[in-house]
Amino acid sequence: MILTELLNKLPSITILFAFFVGTIIGSFLNVVVYRLPLMLQESWSEYAADALRTSGFMDYAGIISRDNNINKNLTLAYPRSHCPTCKRTLKSYHLLPLVSFIALKGKCEFCKSAINFRYPAIEFICGVLTSYVIYRYQFTWMTVGCCFFIWILICLSFIDIEKKILPDFLTILLLWSGIIFNLNAMFVSLEESVIGAIFGYLFLWAIATIFKLVTRKDGMGQGDVKLFAALGAWVGWSSLPILLVLASCAGIFGGCIQILRKSTKTQSIAFGPYLASAGFIALLWGNEIKNLILR
Ligand SMILES: [Zn+2]
Repeated sequence: MILTELLNKLPSITILFAFFVGTIIGSFLNVVVYRLPLMLQESWSEYAADALRTSGFMDYAGIISRDNNINKNLTLAYPRSHCPTCKRTLKSYHLLPLVSFIALKGKCEFCKSAINFRYPAIEFICGVLTSYVIYRYQFTWMTVGCCFFIWILICLSFIDIEKKILPDFLTILLLWSGIIFNLNAMFVSLEESVIGAIFGYLFLWAIATIFKLVTRKDGMGQGDVKLFAALGAWVGWSSLPILLVLASCAGIFGGCIQILRKSTKTQSIAFGPYLASAGFIALLWGNEIKNLILR
């Protein structure tokens, strides 16, 4: 293959190019992270308004529909990217990943409001991880699978950080794609993958249910349960214990930092990013970690 030859002959240039492509993908992931929750909010509000209308509460239904009008017709492609503060449409050079943020010194060119740091962060993370995956698996189907896996996880992590939700659209997509990519045992056998999804769901669901029965509080969102099941479909059931230990340790550490900084006491902590990071480690280094433990 030409691309593989290029990677072997000019590794640094190919990796740099992969990083650049990764930042462009990251730029699109930013659109997903910003717009998907708004699109969901719009459809949920419409659903609530319909329910109120059916129950005879026309006034309340009207208020919801009116407030909801702002995000009507919003899709991932329409309207064109704009500044969330002044609503002016961005110029094409504003869309250059990383470069535009640096050139504009992190501020909107029109209204000078600060650009959310999430934009360069996602572009950079996506660039680094995409180029690493290409370096590791070269130009193979494993790269395609692994890139798809990390791109969805980046979206889920940042949506969870900002909105404290893990949309079904992404978790279920991740679950089915995990099973599909493992049909020919790409990362784990199909059996490992399917049992991983079932075991992952049932295990976290049981923990969440027991926690709720004992404390009468929601300790864990259903989104975390579905994400864990989806990760099980990718890494297989045998890597799930390692994944959960890693995510829990990182979650406890992150939670302590958040409490020490007094940024939250009553607010819930987003567990999705910890599960996602642990899932990434388990997919790429799960076997090495398992061998190390067995030794
Ligand atoms: Zn602006």
